[in-house]
Amino acid sequence: SDSPKTDFIREIIAADLASGKHETTITRFPPEPNGYLHLGHARAICLNFGIAQENAAVGARCHLRFDDTNPEKEEVEYVESIKADVKWLGFDWGDNLFYASDYFEFYYDCAVHLIKNGLAYVDEQTAEQIKETRGNLTVPGTPSPWRDRSVEENLELFAKMRAGGFEEGAAVLRAKIDMASPNIVLRDPVIYRVLKAEHHNTGDAWCLYPMYDFAHPLEDAHEHITHSLCTLEFEIHRPFYDWVIENCPVPAKPRQIEFSRLNFTYTVMSKRKLLTLVKEGHVAGWDDPRMPTLSGARRRGIPAIAIRKLCEKTGITKFQGITDIAQLEFEIRDHLNAAAPRRMGVIDPLKLIIENFPAGQSEDIELDNHPKDPAMGSRQVALSRELWIEADDFMEVPEKKYFRLGPGRHVRLRGGYIVKCTGFEKDASGKITEVRCEYLPGTRGADAPEGVECRAAIHWVSAEHGVEAEVRLYDRLFTAEDPDAAEGGFVSVINPDSLKTIRAYVEPAAANAAPEEVYQFERLGYFVADRHDHQPGTKPVFNRTIGLRDSWAK
Ligand code: ATP
Ligand code: MG
Ligand code: MG
Repeated sequence: SDSPKTDFIREIIAADLASGKHETTITRFPPEPNGYLHLGHARAICLNFGIAQENAAVGARCHLRFDDTNPEKEEVEYVESIKADVKWLGFDWGDNLFYASDYFEFYYDCAVHLIKNGLAYVDEQTAEQIKETRGNLTVPGTPSPWRDRSVEENLELFAKMRAGGFEEGAAVLRAKIDMASPNIVLRDPVIYRVLKAEHHNTGDAWCLYPMYDFAHPLEDAHEHITHSLCTLEFEIHRPFYDWVIENCPVPAKPRQIEFSRLNFTYTVMSKRKLLTLVKEGHVAGWDDPRMPTLSGARRRGIPAIAIRKLCEKTGITKFQGITDIAQLEFEIRDHLNAAAPRRMGVIDPLKLIIENFPAGQSEDIELDNHPKDPAMGSRQVALSRELWIEADDFMEVPEKKYFRLGPGRHVRLRGGYIVKCTGFEKDASGKITEVRCEYLPGTRGADAPEGVECRAAIHWVSAEHGVEAEVRLYDRLFTAEDPDAAEGGFVSVINPDSLKTIRAYVEPAAANAAPEEVYQFERLGYFVADRHDHQPGTKPVFNRTIGLRDSWAK
């Protein structure tokens, strides 16, 4: 296919390999297991695993590392979902699965090393005091009264922190750098805190935990990461990243490089906000097809390749922007138009009776599974006297340019005969309940006879052969292009009509779909058999992935 795109990060890596600075490149994707992965994470996954694939010839690899040093918000469910989602997106970490919590002893040793070199101290100020004395952009920080403790005292107190001798908040370990640094991150950042919390991996072995900014460079160094790729908000943290690497006894010197996050219109994309949607019941779960999570996208029928393509096309830059969700929708349609077999389903059923078709009989019609791909083969679809058609394919008083059914009008049944409308029934409320017609013998696979005007074809499902299905029609979860900017917060602009569940009829070949199979229901859009709820043949459940841009023959 097309040659892989390059970007400033790939150029740096290529230069490091060319100059011999590195013999290979080792990247990592380091999610914190505190939620499910979202579409934004796909950019980081495609970048890190992509670089490893492109440099496989020199032994490059990408680690999947669970950044699980924070005991409070992490769960095993999240670890499992993250693994499944990375695989689904099309990447493989091979043997390179790591847990940052496996290196607790290493971080601790590094902290002791800093203390011994006069580069860290135990501070007994309150969190409040520490915050206040850090200053701000115009005011330098003021040193803690504990800043000049002796190495011996610090070693003793740090050991006491580890032994559980301090309550939470009573003592922290701080790096001793520069309280007047113009970069506030460098004003003696806290690197360890006391947390008497159970950790999912280490249990109650520890009651002090490293801060992210201290642990992260050490995780990278411990794994011999060459290029540590992260999002732009970490740019101001880079001097501290480098400080840790410079001052700790590390086995390798990774380099941090930042790139811009992937964000989309009409959605929110932070795990904290997604958790709110789940917890408050605005959606059915993390993998609700309306969620911008990877598992939601999967359940929605969005092909992984569409997400990878989107990531490739939007590229890697330093410029923070918002990607139009229509760009992803384009990739979804582009792929499914070529890849999804065609089926017929009726989502707003109206009965059509062919009066001159004998009851109890049926006729098999062979339909291609794809108009442009003969390799997809064909299937038999039964035509019978009573059919389901879409309610909006009949109009009692047709508008201008309406070419479908109306009294006395002709339309072609997709793949079959031309029929002429001979009558209809209404109920007391004026709703059309039944349409009657006659078919024109000899028009199957043949042009309309002289004098018959037939300018449209409609899809249909035999009432006798069709299978009743539950179909879920999804719309955008938010009504605002930038939900975060809404005055009442993102929850205030949730679309109340983002899910409509309806009863439909589908042809047997669709009802028999395996879970996760995606079809184009002709003229309607793309639909996926639900991963969890669909029961092939007996209880079909389809989720609408996306509508068609335009429909044929309308
Ligand atoms: P969130 O704010 O959604 O919780 P996070 O950055 O805290 O995101 P992590 O689990 O720490 O989530 O992310 C793992 C990796 O994915 C990090 O390297 C992070 O930079 C990257 N990442 C997260 N969100 C995005 C995004 N929107 N675009 C690109 N990369 C992202
Ligand atoms: Mg994070
Ligand atoms: Mg986060």
